[in-house]
Amino acid sequence: MILDGKKVRDELLANYKEKIKKENLNIKLAIILVGDNEASKIYIKNKERACAYVGIAVEKYLLAADTSESVLISLIEKLNNDTSVTGIILQSPVPGHIDFDKCSGLIDSKKDVDGFTKENIYNLYLGKETILPCTVKGIIKLIEYYNIPIAGSNVVIVGRGNIVGHPLSLALLNMDATVTVAHSKTKNLKEITTSADILIAATGVAHLIKKDMVKVGSVVIDVGVSRIDGHIFGDVDFDDVKDVALWITPNPGGVGPMTVAMIIDNLLMMKGWEDNG
Ligand code: NAP
Repeated sequence: MILDGKKVRDELLANYKEKIKKENLNIKLAIILVGDNEASKIYIKNKERACAYVGIAVEKYLLAADTSESVLISLIEKLNNDTSVTGIILQSPVPGHIDFDKCSGLIDSKKDVDGFTKENIYNLYLGKETILPCTVKGIIKLIEYYNIPIAGSNVVIVGRGNIVGHPLSLALLNMDATVTVAHSKTKNLKEITTSADILIAATGVAHLIKKDMVKVGSVVIDVGVSRIDGHIFGDVDFDDVKDVALWITPNPGGVGPMTVAMIIDNLLMMKGWEDNG
């Protein structure tokens, strides 16, 4: 059976739109792009489309590739202090002369849509309420939507990156899953992945996960995106795995749409904080 990220996204966006209209919420997202990355432009378009649909204003700051770090920092500080701005995204990647972690870390943690600031990561570490990174939150919402139990499940995450695997491991641990994190140095990967009730692949290695790595009747979630010769591949060989897994995400059409929806979810959370002082 398919974990249909597009369908769930559409339902969520319709709910968010209704809430924003009913409560007359004034929400503004500021997106900063430094340079001309083509993939980033597509991601930003998707974010703008979702915001326009639900009734959230977007202010784009398209900075030249040679913009200095200090100019970028001044802009972030200006947006932090602008009470009309609910949330801020610094789109990655940034040009090499800019330290992404440093700059994204300067975003006010209450406006940190991507959940990358120290305070939000520390709260995740402590198991406190926090802004979760959008992909992490999207994966969890997708699992929950289909009533798949997380507490007590054996979850194997392949990939320990800072955007997906690592924060996801903390979030699922906070939800009482038994979490194993595998990575490029893991020995006997197949032995580990076949123990998973829920297997989440977030590596960017095309078709890494084949059917002999998947437990019969398990849940398989494919986060990876790799581009080879103009084609996009996920981490999971969908056609090979689909008859072994009970639940599986398509890719595209699984985690990607959920990630975009969670931008709106995070903005609504921030708006709630703002309104409650
Ligand atoms: P990342 O920081 O590059 O991390 C990749 C991880 O994969 C690393 O931990 C690496 O291990 C591990 N890895 C690489 N080759 C492996 C192998 N052969 N076996 C096992 N593990 C291996 O990536 P990320 O930012 O977390 O993103 C992961 C993937 O998700 C990417 O393809 C990215 O494009 C995609 N993504 C998708 C969405 C979406 O909305 N669909 C959002 C964000 C990211 P080491 O740590 O040992 O190097």
